[in-house]
Amino acid sequence: MMNPKMKIQIEKASCPKGHSLITEEKKLSGIPSIMVDARIHGHSAPIYLSAFFGDFNYETTLELNKGDVVELFCPQCETSLAIEEVCHLCGVPMFAIHLPDGGQVEACPTIGCHNHKLSLVDLDRQFLRFYSDETMPKM
Ligand SMILES: [Zn+2]
Ligand SMILES: [Zn+2]
Repeated sequence: MMNPKMKIQIEKASCPKGHSLITEEKKLSGIPSIMVDARIHGHSAPIYLSAFFGDFNYETTLELNKGDVVELFCPQCETSLAIEEVCHLCGVPMFAIHLPDGGQVEACPTIGCHNHKLSLVDLDRQFLRFYSDETMPKM
């Protein structure tokens, strides 16, 4: 079991076709964020997600309310990030962000639903940074 006080920073992540989704343009929780395109109710805009696993901080110009389900796409090739796995809490298809070694972060696209998981293939080769609370960067 991982130390619950440990934070994991996702340093590299991509769409299924390999486009990087990490952007320096916007920092969330003090680190470069994950940028994807979000669509809801016929509107589309970038959404920035915190690259700390387990941190649900996000920023977007879209008006999102609890319970809204966003569709997420790669900003470069517009490939949908949705996967076949369905959220066991709210029943909508989850989305996945690919890690360089074949692992992935899976999360629920429903605003307010905090179902997510990290699938690691090879822990030694992760492009992840582990922080304990004591070594967290100041926000
Ligand atoms: Zn792409
Ligand atoms: Zn859910």
